[in-house]
Amino acid sequence: MAQLIRNAARLASQTYTRSASRPLIASRNVSTTNKNDQEVATEAEEEMVQFRPTTAQAPSMMDIGTRAIFNEDHDIVRASVRKFFNEEVVPHHEQWEKDGEISRECWEKAGEQGLLGVDTPMEQGGLGGDWLDASIIMEEQSYTNCSGPGFALHSEIVMPYISHFGTQEQIDKFIPDMTAGKKIGAIAMTEPGAGSDLQGMRTNARQDGDDWILNGSKTFITNGWMSDVVIVCAVTNPTAKSAAHGISLFLVEEGMEGFRKGKKLQKMGMKAQDTSELYFDDVRLPASALLGKAHHGFYYLMSELPQERLLIGIMSAANVEWQFEETRKYLLQRKAFGKTLSSLQTIQHKLAELKTNIVVGRAFTDQCIDLHQNKKLDSGMASMNKYWMTDLQNKCAYECVQLHGGWGYMWEYPIAKAYVDAKVQTIYGGSNEIMKELISRQIVADKRI
Ligand SMILES: Cc1cc2nc3c(=O)[nH]c(=O)nc-3n(C[C@H](O)[C@H](O)[C@H](O)COP(=O)(O)OP(=O)(O)OC[C@H]3O[C@@H](n4cnc5c(N)ncnc54)[C@H](O)[C@@H]3O)c2cc1C
Repeated sequence: MAQLIRNAARLASQTYTRSASRPLIASRNVSTTNKNDQEVATEAEEEMVQFRPTTAQAPSMMDIGTRAIFNEDHDIVRASVRKFFNEEVVPHHEQWEKDGEISRECWEKAGEQGLLGVDTPMEQGGLGGDWLDASIIMEEQSYTNCSGPGFALHSEIVMPYISHFGTQEQIDKFIPDMTAGKKIGAIAMTEPGAGSDLQGMRTNARQDGDDWILNGSKTFITNGWMSDVVIVCAVTNPTAKSAAHGISLFLVEEGMEGFRKGKKLQKMGMKAQDTSELYFDDVRLPASALLGKAHHGFYYLMSELPQERLLIGIMSAANVEWQFEETRKYLLQRKAFGKTLSSLQTIQHKLAELKTNIVVGRAFTDQCIDLHQNKKLDSGMASMNKYWMTDLQNKCAYECVQLHGGWGYMWEYPIAKAYVDAKVQTIYGGSNEIMKELISRQIVADKRI
């Protein structure tokens, strides 16, 4: 991680003008009892330098140097990650939306710049950072409103399965290349007939000597088209007492005989992200393709899904901040009835409502990030965050398009893209209805009352 920060510092020093060593300063009352003026001034200065404003207090909600969960090292990393997205993603995104996928070159550049596998342990071939570092990368992507790169799924969903449940051989085979962006990861749970209810899955693998023979199909798979390695969930014990006891995970690689990618799916939004169908026709998998223990797959999914939910909430929280700043900027310059729209009281009140909702969501999201950083986030809270933030992202997008008027409906205005991209956030990673199921189950099962 030290290497990542040094690398980031080097990159940041090239272009970053708002110095990370001088974080944003917000004023604060300091006790003056029994102190001379010089002491008071020095203390006040120290306090102010250490004080990191909340996003509610900062000039822009996307400013670097805010939020108490981060420190100055994070600011340096953030500056370099921001630079990466602005230089390597934003200029190409329009073309990628037409292509329905981002370039391999971008994956490799992200690997070179230390944006992949950030919180995977260094001894496994990752970068040895933590959840705060990982969150910065996800937030910065959302601040560009570019949904194309499936980095979060690759680094924070797929890699953890291999890191947590893989053998040394599997870790050595995949993690270093995934950190370098040379192998792209995907995870395939959903099937045409099984989404929310994963226990209804029909893709299956039967044992043949030491090998497994995989058959079935998956759909809606993010990074599916470009994937080099896919974690595939399959039924391995159809007679288990419940479906949950009979599911296993397999590492299926591009080029394996019988593994075929279907078409890239035409989506309403997230157009630069490749989402595809996958087909498995008698794919012969060696024993070494089994991830973790046979028939334990469902439990592995249950243990990893809270992180998946939190990362969706994190990306939603950052994107609503972007939506707000983009809309504010527009309203400050758009003229109607001889003055700017921002000077109308009804518009100002709408901005006040939006900002209040967004900073409340930010406070909860930062609490969840902090808890997860300390391995204390539970499934209920992760589900609450995903449900709340993705709903908010959609509500804000609706309001922000409205505030842009007809221009908000035009594709050339990025707020239009934010509006369609937001929709899927309440659907995947477990729909928000399923989130409410999980939250409510915990509420009624709580034996402490
Ligand atoms: C762009 C995109 C990317 C995706 N990426 C991936 C991926 O990488 N890997 C992967 O495996 N999957 C992926 N998915 C699939 C996604 O996780 C599923 O679409 C999602 O879990 C919902 O399943 P479903 O589509 O089958 O809907 P269904 O399960 O059929 O649900 C339909 C509706 O019924 C509601 N519903 C279902 N059950 C209940 C219930 N018990 N109580 C109340 N309401 C209920 C749902 O909330 C939803 O509103 C992706 C989907 C999309 C659109």
